[in-house]
Amino acid sequence: MNIISNISFLMVGFAGMEFFSWFIHKYIMHGPLWNIHKTHHVHTKGFFELNDLFSILFGSIAIILIFSGVQSLDYRFWLGCGISLYGISYFVLHDILIHRRVKVKKKPKGKYLNGISRAHRAHHKSNQKDKAVSFGLFIVPFRFFKK
Ligand SMILES: [Zn+2]
Ligand SMILES: [Zn+2]
Repeated sequence: MNIISNISFLMVGFAGMEFFSWFIHKYIMHGPLWNIHKTHHVHTKGFFELNDLFSILFGSIAIILIFSGVQSLDYRFWLGCGISLYGISYFVLHDILIHRRVKVKKKPKGKYLNGISRAHRAHHKSNQKDKAVSFGLFIVPFRFFKK
């Protein structure tokens, strides 16, 4: 295993998660599992939402991959690291900077972060299963970057 393929698997894990979670969000969460995801669209009391189950699911996949590949540091390990990195970035961006689940002074700044937070707020404009737009987090329609 060389460094190039390790980094490639790391990036595949990260980028793959953006597509995977876009797909799950659009077709599963706003589909058959809307009842669970709804808890993220409709304001609920308390810190945890039923919707957090999805993060636990994605996190478990990453942990299983890391554990099964840690001895030989093979592709599973690097894929798992990529997925974890995605999960951490998602949490910081989506849960802290956009939804302010943890109170910090920092606000999304810069053209890119402003654009994706605008896109995600547009996703939340609707509390309904079928009316939502923009399901990705890091890759969003270009129009959100224009003022
Ligand atoms: Zn949604
Ligand atoms: Zn959200």
